[in-house]
Amino acid sequence: MKSERGIVLLKYHARETSSFETKEQDIPMMTPGQYEESLRNLNLEVYMFGKRLENVVDDPIIRPSMNAVAKTYELAQRPEYQDIMLATSHISGKKINRFTHIHQSTEDLVKKSKMGRLLGRHTGCCFQRCVGMDSLNALSIVTYNMDAKYNTSYHERFLEYLAYVQEHDLTCDGAMTDPKGDRRLPPHAQDDPDLYLHVVEERADGIVVRGAKAHQTGAVNSHEIIVMPTLSMKKEDEDYAVSFALPSDAEGILYIMGRQSCDTRKAESGNMDQGNLIYGGHEALVVFDNVFVPWDRVFMYKEYDFAGQLVEHFASYHRQSYACKVGVGDVLIGAAQTIAEYNGADRASHVKDKVIEMNHLNETLFCGCIACASEGHKEPSGTFAVNSLLANIHKHNVTRFPYEISRLAQDIAGGLMVTMPSEKDLRSSETAKWVEKYFKTNPDVPTEDRLRILRLIENLCLGTAAVGYLTESMHGAGSPQAQRIMISRLVNLKEKQKAAKRLCGIADDS
Ligand code: SF4
Ligand code: FE
Repeated sequence: MKSERGIVLLKYHARETSSFETKEQDIPMMTPGQYEESLRNLNLEVYMFGKRLENVVDDPIIRPSMNAVAKTYELAQRPEYQDIMLATSHISGKKINRFTHIHQSTEDLVKKSKMGRLLGRHTGCCFQRCVGMDSLNALSIVTYNMDAKYNTSYHERFLEYLAYVQEHDLTCDGAMTDPKGDRRLPPHAQDDPDLYLHVVEERADGIVVRGAKAHQTGAVNSHEIIVMPTLSMKKEDEDYAVSFALPSDAEGILYIMGRQSCDTRKAESGNMDQGNLIYGGHEALVVFDNVFVPWDRVFMYKEYDFAGQLVEHFASYHRQSYACKVGVGDVLIGAAQTIAEYNGADRASHVKDKVIEMNHLNETLFCGCIACASEGHKEPSGTFAVNSLLANIHKHNVTRFPYEISRLAQDIAGGLMVTMPSEKDLRSSETAKWVEKYFKTNPDVPTEDRLRILRLIENLCLGTAAVGYLTESMHGAGSPQAQRIMISRLVNLKEKQKAAKRLCGIADDS
């Protein structure tokens, strides 16, 4: 099944990327076209609206999310972005896509933040590939630390896997969030033991796992799935303390696509009502129905005392990754300024002030993701980690500021954003003249352009991209309370008290 819309997108994608197709190169990187072909070669079991999809790549609802991941391949091919998009592998010495890189300096971390903003601005949505990058970096630290304590060989195993990912320029899905069942109970005490993913069988050649991971960003656009535990664990939960990587089409893995507000607009003919012509994100429930994992892909097996460390490293990296929202914020601010100009309201002082406020909030977010990167440090494995306190502060701001930026954009846009007729009414011989006549503003601005920019604002604030810009800002990489717990744990209150007491002459013996 390929809708008219799907065909339009295919053509657009081909045109947009053709100039970046490269010859055989010493750099082990895929072009966007090769990435798309590699997905066609997967045999994923994907369900949407109650039916299995025969063709995932060309499905009009999923395809925009594939286009967004393809952008991470495309920008890596463009000379002007190579400083940000490429890195030098610490294992092969080759140039690689930064999404497969293990950070070797604070400069690497800063470039990662800039890459997130860049891609957010180019796509206006979640481009999904960060979860894999963050899993790889967290595992590079924790496999090393486990080996130091238990004399295991996880790190070597991990580096072999990493070399494979880098050599083939793969997209990995980092899968952390279990369904969690009854929140009062730890994994082993749940009525249904599968509500957290766990080991059900140990074999000579590997392990068998069962369970699920929810809200999986980019899952069906990934070549690999990297599974990690979702919380700190105790001895009784050791069967749940498991981390591994599998090809996304491994036997027993299936995907049930999540719905998004206005998602079926992507399957309509025309290209205006979905707001963002090309890009989108997606999430899915990933079910592991007795899935075999060979030992060489197991990176944690019952080391329950390291589950929390893995969660925290991944969470800190992924909280930094929310630099993406700064890029999406750039798009929304640009859209708000544009509709203000189209409406002839851009000179009004209160509109100018609202745009200033949006920029203030957005750049404050940028400060956070740059700061936690600049203040990073080297772990024993050699990997550079972000400053966890600042990464949590940054992500906590992300749970708030995009909502205010969105509120201001909706204020500037006006109610027409949600009351205007459809693209079909703009094209219909019976209604076009009325739509043209009554939605005209500045004679220099085509009515269609005004409606298009309003649809983009709607998409970002209320439509499919609002999942990525708003709800994901709230809950992705951990809900606000998760950051508040980390802030309370990481902040040095005693030091602050000492500073205060010293200044006013109170003795402090602590
Ligand atoms: Fe990356 Fe942002 Fe999407 Fe997370 S929400 S995967 S950080 S683009
Ligand atoms: Fe996310």
